[in-house]
Amino acid sequence: MPQPPRLSWTVARWSLWTLAVRVRVFVLIVDTVAVVAATAGAFLAPSTGDHFWVAAILAAAGILHTEVATGIERVRRRVAERSYFDLSSVWTFAAAVLLPPAAIVVVIAALYVHLWFRVWRPAKVPPHRHIFTTASVLFAALAAHLVTTATGGVANWSRGIAGLGAIVLAIAVYAVVNTALVAAVIALDEPRSRLGELFGHWDDNMLEIATLCLGALTAIALGTNPWMVLTILPPLLVLHRAVLVRRLEEVASTDAKTGLLNAAGWRARATWEMERARGTVGVLILDLDHFKAVNDAYGHLVGDSVLAAVASAVRSQVRENDLVGRFGGEEFVVLIPGLPPARAGRAELAAVAERIRCRIAELTVAIDAVGSHFVVEGLSTSVGGAMYPGDGSSLDQVLEAADAALYAAKHAGRNRVRIAGATDSYLEPPFAPPAAAESSVRWSGGLSGHP
Ligand code: GH3
Ligand code: MG
Ligand code: MG
Repeated sequence: MPQPPRLSWTVARWSLWTLAVRVRVFVLIVDTVAVVAATAGAFLAPSTGDHFWVAAILAAAGILHTEVATGIERVRRRVAERSYFDLSSVWTFAAAVLLPPAAIVVVIAALYVHLWFRVWRPAKVPPHRHIFTTASVLFAALAAHLVTTATGGVANWSRGIAGLGAIVLAIAVYAVVNTALVAAVIALDEPRSRLGELFGHWDDNMLEIATLCLGALTAIALGTNPWMVLTILPPLLVLHRAVLVRRLEEVASTDAKTGLLNAAGWRARATWEMERARGTVGVLILDLDHFKAVNDAYGHLVGDSVLAAVASAVRSQVRENDLVGRFGGEEFVVLIPGLPPARAGRAELAAVAERIRCRIAELTVAIDAVGSHFVVEGLSTSVGGAMYPGDGSSLDQVLEAADAALYAAKHAGRNRVRIAGATDSYLEPPFAPPAAAESSVRWSGGLSGHP
């Protein structure tokens, strides 16, 4: 007979323990407070039989919704790493504004247990993440519940502009509480996250607002005729499709190896940026020096890890609004809007390029392959830069000028920056190129690491 797993062994294997201590503590606090709040709410504001009917209708509609949408949701998760919003907030928001806390907890528990078994567990999402999502939804719902109660309840929603104000406030509070908790845990996990990573894309937030508006309509519909709930499902499924299309767009413009924009995605965004730019825009093209040697020495998989590390190194040296893309094999492009005009702009572009070159030169890439651990270092890159509108009146013309500058950097001995139209006086120290001997020796002798 197989032995049942011992509790201590099961607990020791919880995915929660894989988190950094600060994240773990935060997650545990949020989860615990959620349980306490749910229990306290249930005792302080008990529900009646009517409430449980409404709760049952919302839970049933939510479960039906998940079943119908499961196919679409699975595709979405396959193409998107982090998913911020679950469209089930239609039902949890309706529950939040219509029901007392005990019944809200029942609806959320029913929906999220069902979502776990039907969507998240098959997608191999760690349990601690799903529990945290459930806890943050509970907090958002309780906060929206408090706001609705304080503004006179759903009955007050029929009162003209004041009613609309109450709906908007409840939606805003729900969205803010939910988003803030998720952003806090991402920020603790990865303190250097960008705003977009913390709070999701603008479109994701609009989607959440659209879902919450549907939740408000659901609450109103339930007051008229419970069967009206079925009219919410078709627009909800269309929303799912809208999310999927957006994710596919994102995947189509992202380079899988580095997470940067791919060439087509970069071109589209860069053209748009250039058309709306009023000032000077800089373009940099980077080509790693003798990258074939890295592949020859360590293989293409290690080469790919180096490319990913270089991509983050480039990203780390520019502002959030600068567009970084992977142009081809080991070539990267950066679009830098908002530069000062003329000579000052070229000097600033040269400074950014030099910063990137230095960062790549000091990069050490730790490789953990099966049975071998080593470090690849001593990389170098050549960089060419050009300016819009000084060096061309279209993106292609500016790219051509930057490409010519890149070739000039390669011909001058690699591991250096060249800016179109700039005399070398821009590149006086600290932008002076390193001695040619150093750049050519570094890649062969300096490329260290032994698999
Ligand atoms: P240099 O630019 O200094 O003239 O020399 P290089 O060796 O870097 O030459 P080049 O830019 O012409 O060649 C690019 C090399 O980059 C060829 C190929 O082996 C490698 N490469 C291109 N794409 C990838 C990729 O996706 N992964 C890996 N691992 N290597 C790639
Ligand atoms: Mg190349
Ligand atoms: Mg190269």
